[in-house]
Amino acid sequence: LAWQAWEQRMQPAITTDGYRLEVGANLGDAGQAAEAMAGGAEGVGLLRTEFAFMGHSQLPAIQQQIEEYQHVFSALGGRPLVARTLDAGGDKPLSYWLRPKEDNPFLGVRGIRLCMQQPELLETQLRALLAAAGDQPLRIMFPMVADWSEWRFGKEMFDRIQADIQAPDVQLGMMVEVPSAALNARQFAREADFFSIGTNDLTQYTLAADRGNGELAALSDGLHPAVLRLIAMTVEAAHAEGKWVGVCGELGADPQALPVLLGLGIDEVSVSPKRIPLVKARVRELSLAKCKQLAGRALEASCAGAVRILAGEKQ
Ligand code: PEP
Ligand code: MG
Repeated sequence: LAWQAWEQRMQPAITTDGYRLEVGANLGDAGQAAEAMAGGAEGVGLLRTEFAFMGHSQLPAIQQQIEEYQHVFSALGGRPLVARTLDAGGDKPLSYWLRPKEDNPFLGVRGIRLCMQQPELLETQLRALLAAAGDQPLRIMFPMVADWSEWRFGKEMFDRIQADIQAPDVQLGMMVEVPSAALNARQFAREADFFSIGTNDLTQYTLAADRGNGELAALSDGLHPAVLRLIAMTVEAAHAEGKWVGVCGELGADPQALPVLLGLGIDEVSVSPKRIPLVKARVRELSLAKCKQLAGRALEASCAGAVRILAGEKQ
């Protein structure tokens, strides 16, 4: 199968009953973009822009940021780029911005929270992204949105800059990786153009299980029915407003999770570049109708292990 998957990597991922899932790449630095496109990526579903900030001894100037993003765009050849604004803070500190030590960095000033304390940081980044995009398809999303005020802060800043720059094809969305964002997805869906579900953090925060703690690996499984319920709520809320939903956490590359996620109605999945051919091949084996039945049963299951047994039955 691996060889066949590689041979067909440039073909779309369409289920046996004709449903097409978009498959994008998660990138941690600009240099991976070309490799991802050669591996069959249909775009970049998550650009972790931390790379443009963390490898420097001071805040990179706008021109430097523009060049890094242009580097990614040039490899994409017109395919869409979903750029996540800086997700630093917490366990990913910026060496040039000293902050008080936090007892619980995963629950601390990270992601959009950090940008609210340093608005010029987000402003420069948004200007750099829009300038780099020109007329190429750009989607921008904010990480760690937990509360409406955080979304509004980011959206108001974006609207102001976009009115200035007028980049033609830009959508503004948000990560859904905190349970409160999934629970309030109906509100967010009225304004956000799309959601991208970060299952790594969503699982960690739903089950109160540190994503890096090996002892808790079995507990922090994104196929837990509680996490699936939050995903289902997010998809329903988005689709009710005509918006699209992707999954950009590790769960999207898990062969047992894919049919469940498809059945829950996701429109796109974004995975690490080397997983793309296999993810596409897996989608081609599945029927959306059966995936929907599976998802319905998974939501009623008692635990992640039970969902994995259901998903292990031939789909
Ligand atoms: C996630 O939380 O699932 C995610 C994609 O973001 P990161 O892994 O960068 O926190
Ligand atoms: Mg995350």
